[in-house]
Amino acid sequence: MHVTAIIAAAGAGRRIGGATPKSYLPIAGRPLLLRTMDRVFSSPLVAEVILVVSADEIDRCRQLLEADVSLKGRPYCLHPGGVTRQQSVRQGLQALSAATDVVMIHDGARPFVSAALIDRCIAAAVAHGAAIPGLPVRDTIKQIDTDGYVQGTPERAGLWEIQTPQVFQRQLIVAAHDWAAREGIEATDDAMVVERMDKPVFVVAGERTNFKITVPEDLSLAEALIRAGVVS
Ligand code: C5P
Repeated sequence: MHVTAIIAAAGAGRRIGGATPKSYLPIAGRPLLLRTMDRVFSSPLVAEVILVVSADEIDRCRQLLEADVSLKGRPYCLHPGGVTRQQSVRQGLQALSAATDVVMIHDGARPFVSAALIDRCIAAAVAHGAAIPGLPVRDTIKQIDTDGYVQGTPERAGLWEIQTPQVFQRQLIVAAHDWAAREGIEATDDAMVVERMDKPVFVVAGERTNFKITVPEDLSLAEALIRAGVVS
């Protein structure tokens, strides 16, 4: 088995504000993207990493990675992303090595994924073809119309929030993304394109600490968790 991880980090990260792109923001002194790379390489099952960043950030990103001692000698390459997350992932898929038979797709903005979760997702994808981490939602979820009125409340039992890494057999995810591109289907995660092809996707237990750094408060939370020794 040869697992290649695609890290999607080509987003603008506008919700976090400020002039510095999200990937470079330090969390307790270490830039977010380097923390994510550390975690992905902490899994012994990941053979190589394709890091997808926006085309105009490639040089800056390469400098950051090459200057980092803990990434020295690690098998990674940089690749330009697209306008949407889906396009960025597709660019990564087009750069897969011939040896790859399992693909793990991870958000660059989730720097606290554990090796245990990565390995759990990979094992489940090998068994089921596609596997994603999820957790039962804690809040009640409502559908709201554009005027701000509640349209409905789906039953909370059975609703899960889904994270990355999402792991797939290579042929399945490549076919699903090609199909979605042809059909003009825009998805917010990769499992969605597989689901739309009526293929099963298995859910494994995610981790509360594997949250996506999205808004400024998430940076404060991340630093507090590091200080408290909850994550590293
Ligand atoms: O926008 P969202 O929060 O869903 O982004 C999740 C991940 O996808 C982020 O790590 C972001 O950098 C990445 N992304 C990307 N290319 C885009 C948009 C988002 O790689 N065009």
